[in-house]
Amino acid sequence: MGDARRGLLIILSSPSGAGKSTLARRLMGWDPGISFSVSATTRAPRPGEVDGREYHFRTRPEFEAMVAAGEMLEHAAVFSNLYGTPRAPVEAAVQAGRDTLFDIDWQGGQQIRNSTLARDSVSIFILPPTIAELSRRLRDRGQDSAEVITARMAQSRDEISHWAEYDYVLINRDLDETARRLTTIVTAERLRRDRQPGLSGFVRTLNEEFEETRHG
Ligand code: 5GP
Repeated sequence: MGDARRGLLIILSSPSGAGKSTLARRLMGWDPGISFSVSATTRAPRPGEVDGREYHFRTRPEFEAMVAAGEMLEHAAVFSNLYGTPRAPVEAAVQAGRDTLFDIDWQGGQQIRNSTLARDSVSIFILPPTIAELSRRLRDRGQDSAEVITARMAQSRDEISHWAEYDYVLINRDLDETARRLTTIVTAERLRRDRQPGLSGFVRTLNEEFEETRHG
């Protein structure tokens, strides 16, 4: 094992309306060292979304060319649009020891867990407290038509059916509490023995100190 710490991939999935984007922002506010993986998508930007910040907005042919060139770490069709994670920034972050947050669906989560980056990843699924609450949050967002909302509810049911594939599950009853739990998960995952590559050197030093004190 090398002695450089590898960046952690933090995968967040949930049905839309469960509070995932807010929790993602909270996590990055808690540790600004966590970078957000900006996905590519063929869907149109929503009001306020900026190309290169929320997503890289691409045409379908552009997106398909990226897939064909092997530039996507994972990709999937979600709700009739294509979404995918550009590979290069993720590999650079892992090598540099920078942790990265992914807001991706269950298909993306599965593909990363089946990739060579599986051991660098932790996956967290967020559930809404009730379906009424999920539906209310989708409506309150006011960004989608009634037709789109209905389709998103069906999509949500499908997404929720994959909850058991995740390492952690949070029920988002209270945003502050859920955000705290999310930071607790990240803290614990960073402390895993295999994610602290300097440990054997550190313990070697402790042993040298035992020798020096002649009490060991
Ligand atoms: P939205 O259109 O609401 O921004 O996102 C719809 C769904 O696509 C969300 O569940 C989001 O997590 C997922 N998604 C966004 N980017 C990616 C990606 O790069 N890969 C995958 N597999 N899903 C994504």
